[in-house]
Amino acid sequence: NTQQAITLLVHDGRSISIMLRTYGEGAMLLLSQDVSERERNEAMRRDFVANVSHEIRTPLAALSGFVESLTVLRLEGGERERVLELMRQQSQRMQALVDDLLTLARLEGSPRPNPDHWFSLDDLIGRVMAEVAGLSAGRHQWHWPEPTGLELSGVESEAHSALANLLSNAVRYTPERGQIALGVQPLTDGSVALHVSDTGAGIAAEHLPRLTERFYRVDGSRSRATGGTGLGLSIVKHVCQRHGGELRIESEPGVGSGFTLVWPALRVRGGVEQGASDLLGAESALLPWAPRGRER
Ligand code: ADP
Repeated sequence: NTQQAITLLVHDGRSISIMLRTYGEGAMLLLSQDVSERERNEAMRRDFVANVSHEIRTPLAALSGFVESLTVLRLEGGERERVLELMRQQSQRMQALVDDLLTLARLEGSPRPNPDHWFSLDDLIGRVMAEVAGLSAGRHQWHWPEPTGLELSGVESEAHSALANLLSNAVRYTPERGQIALGVQPLTDGSVALHVSDTGAGIAAEHLPRLTERFYRVDGSRSRATGGTGLGLSIVKHVCQRHGGELRIESEPGVGSGFTLVWPALRVRGGVEQGASDLLGAESALLPWAPRGRER
């Protein structure tokens, strides 16, 4: 069949589609096209659907099991309470997953954030502080930045979601009595770096490039046990990209992790006079709390 395309996998992992067609009298036309990108997108879409189904099926199976037990076993008192609590946990897990999926879908479907919508970084930090302090429930030592007077532009709820995700990860992956810091550093090019660092478990180098992929987890059971969906860092990365910023990650197993969200110069204004620095200068994102942190 001369109309049928065949796809060849070439040695470097790229896919080439080749099609042979009759072309006028006694002539043939050979069409070749590099379809690697299309195939990769298609494979990613399939993986994503498979992952979502798996993530939903697990708590759903647990929930149906509990419904069954409640129906068949006629549990009483404490035993019944225990099963109800487990059911609550599983439905919360599904809720968190659906919330994060909707957030991602919204990020992908929305227009580029308005450059003229300004919000106060200090107010944002204040709100996030109150939320994550509740999550940590006194188990960690916190270091917060002094008020900056800075304003950022873009979608405030997205900036909130990015910062809250980074800080709640720090809480979830840092053992009791560990330290967690948020640092704000204006950079020489006018952008602003928001560092979230912790003295938690850290992440081995080979995982770093894949960390922002959807559902990529270093330790799946730890992530799930602490209410993780595996989508947090992909949300953070999306928010950064949509605002023209970037996310940098550094980590050392056994020492801690640093996540730096750089908000671009065009979207930053105001601020009290502070020495701007190069991001890659002496101050490591892993240790921003020493000089200017405010303890809580
Ligand atoms: P999750 O919901 O699983 O935490 P994320 O996308 O937020 O998903 O993070 C992806 C993975 O990156 C986590 O499963 C965890 O293995 C690792 N990770 C994220 N933040 C930290 C951190 N502060 N310290 C150690 N590991 C982290």
